[in-house]
Amino acid sequence: MRDIVKLEEKILNEGKVLPGDVLKVDCFLNHQLDVQFLLEIGKEIAMLYKNEPVNKILTIETSGIPIAFAAAQFMNVPVVFAKKDKSGNVPDNFYSSKVVSFTRKNEYDAIVSKDFLNNCDNVLVIDDFLAKGNALNGLMDIINQSGAKLCGCVVAIEKGFQGGGDQLRQSGIRVDSLALIDSMSADSLTFRK
Ligand code: 5GP
Repeated sequence: MRDIVKLEEKILNEGKVLPGDVLKVDCFLNHQLDVQFLLEIGKEIAMLYKNEPVNKILTIETSGIPIAFAAAQFMNVPVVFAKKDKSGNVPDNFYSSKVVSFTRKNEYDAIVSKDFLNNCDNVLVIDDFLAKGNALNGLMDIINQSGAKLCGCVVAIEKGFQGGGDQLRQSGIRVDSLALIDSMSADSLTFRK
């Protein structure tokens, strides 16, 4: 069975829809990690980008890291993860971009050391969820600041009804989601095919 199908099944069987259009997948992705399953997802991501010259993966703490790590295992590249800084004082040697958090509704600076991203890099961006696109836009802003080239973005779960993914695609960015939810409520969830 393809891993993408397994992800949809896991979402249906183990996910919980919370108020505020939040999907909780704590049992395999956001709190407890189903490592074997994440490695399968990583393999799928590596397949999707096998013809691209990716030499680095960029993600954001915390929940992007396990998926990025799993993909990196099969792509043989390092992972850089943006840190979330709430101090308001970004150190000089960091790229930074302001991001509004979907789940917490607050704003933070996504920061990445200039030591780990530069204009020689071809970057694949990976995150756990795509909702309105703020987190991915922040990461792509950081890539622009560094002069690196963006190869594309992969998310495990896109909530298509929140529009972020379609906006990015319309602006010419390659966005791959392993499960694309069209609609969800407490008792029903449908995927876009
Ligand atoms: P966006 O920035 O695209 O609006 O939201 C994506 C970010 O918010 C991701 O980094 C993810 O951590 C978080 N997020 C958005 N929607 C959900 C959701 O339904 N469930 C969980 N667990 N996280 C989400």
